[in-house]
Amino acid sequence: MGVLVLSEADVRRLLPMEECIDVMAEALGALEHGDMTVPLRSVFRPPDTGSLMGLMPAHRADAAYGLKAICVFPGNPARGLDAHQGAVLLFDGETGELRSAMNASAITEIRTAAVSGVATRVLAREDARELAILGAGVQARAHIAAMGAVRAFERVRVWSRTPEHARSIAEDAGVEAVASAEEALAGADVVCTTTTAAEPIVRLEWLAPGAHVNAVGSSIPTTRELDTATMAAASLFVDRRESTLNESGDYLLAVAEGAIGPEHIRAELGELLTGKANGRTSDDELTVFKSLGLAAEDLAAAERLYARAREQGAGTEVEL
Ligand code: NDP
Repeated sequence: MGVLVLSEADVRRLLPMEECIDVMAEALGALEHGDMTVPLRSVFRPPDTGSLMGLMPAHRADAAYGLKAICVFPGNPARGLDAHQGAVLLFDGETGELRSAMNASAITEIRTAAVSGVATRVLAREDARELAILGAGVQARAHIAAMGAVRAFERVRVWSRTPEHARSIAEDAGVEAVASAEEALAGADVVCTTTTAAEPIVRLEWLAPGAHVNAVGSSIPTTRELDTATMAAASLFVDRRESTLNESGDYLLAVAEGAIGPEHIRAELGELLTGKANGRTSDDELTVFKSLGLAAEDLAAAERLYARAREQGAGTEVEL
């Protein structure tokens, strides 16, 4: 058997957002049960480049190894390219043979928004009708799709640092562009922060009572999107405790200011999905899901893509 190569177009066709939300829920449950395991990701930043390479291995018992090798080049959007470039590799769980290499930009885009979809499904109020998206890049677009899959929004507002970017995404998605983050957040039941901002773009006093926030943008200890007051006031849910304690600027900078500690983390999403912990307890509770991104999510997406591609004869098979 050769190695199946799946392009960006293959990934987009074979991994629709609604299906990916269910795939992510399964993966987070499997991680909680111990059927999947992941180490912390390894991030390599050569000096003076401004770029990085992240290595994200994962294992599913008796089934597969996965490895996402992802380069992050922040200057790429100005070139018309996704900032995240790389491959997700899928290896046979019995022999270690390489089975597939897949476009990691599309997988990262879709699975990240799908995980926020899972969090919103379990944590946002059922009657959530107003959505705010902060940012206007790859994740902002994907989050509009993911949020629409889990709640019936009647009003969607997008804000971005560069107003024409917000206008462009709003026009494409048929939603509103607004002039400030505060305006986007006013009355929003669900908020998605999807920026590369280093300093907070969300202040507690701008959030509506009972809002649910998916904090997606910062994946490193030195940057954050939420202010300390928001982190302290919120019931905090995470993809994985170990990752949060080591990688999350939103969490670690609030800890450094003495506002919260590890006990502030209410639960991992997997604990909510397997019934080991409870989510929202009242309609006016502020919930925050801090997303960092896990290799288990990439592995689960790759497994689904491989199975679908084999069923449909999709992709290109090569001998290595
Ligand atoms: P893009 O480069 O496509 O978009 C970045 C966005 O951030 C743009 O809308 C940009 O605004 C905005 N932005 C940049 N600097 C600032 C600032 N100082 N203040 C406010 N907004 C700013 O990136 P992606 O959409 O691919 O990724 C967004 C973030 O999500 C990244 O930080 C990335 O690391 C993270 N991410 C997290 C994942 C997870 O699993 N949690 C997975 C993938 C990505 P504008 O262009 O309007 O100026």
